[in-house]
Amino acid sequence: MAYDQNNIFAKILRDEAPCFKVYEDDKTFAFMDVMPQADGHTLVIPKFPAENIFDLDPEYAAAVSLTVHKLAPAVKRAFKAPGLMIAQLNGAEAGQTVFHLHSHIIPRFNGLEMKLHARQMADFDLLKQHAEWIMAELKQA
Ligand code: 5GP
Repeated sequence: MAYDQNNIFAKILRDEAPCFKVYEDDKTFAFMDVMPQADGHTLVIPKFPAENIFDLDPEYAAAVSLTVHKLAPAVKRAFKAPGLMIAQLNGAEAGQTVFHLHSHIIPRFNGLEMKLHARQMADFDLLKQHAEWIMAELKQA
């Protein structure tokens, strides 16, 4: 499948769709998942038109990993999460629903099941607050 320039994450990157941003550098962008599987569910995307890992430029693959590495402790601290799941799905068969490569960072707690994938829209005020918590922790780093 050819990369769709109008997928929602491409629109977010072009500032044509809103999001609650937490971080940006020259190669990557991170923001709150609008249908989070847990509070603090954050997405990291490359500023590169790749559907999945197979068509991602290696430099951008490295940049996404570095941003995940930078954000993970901030998300963990912001949500006092004992565990953190990092996932990246490739292809519809793997569960991918948005076809611009992204890594999920999801806080995990003992006995608290994750919500269903991409199912329920979060309250926007809450997402805004969660983004602010993460950005505050990033400043501490
Ligand atoms: P995937 O299934 O492709 O691995 O994950 C796509 C993720 O994007 C899902 O977790 C879903 O909740 C999230 N998502 C879908 N549409 C939007 C949107 O418009 N804005 C944001 N911030 N997240 C979205």
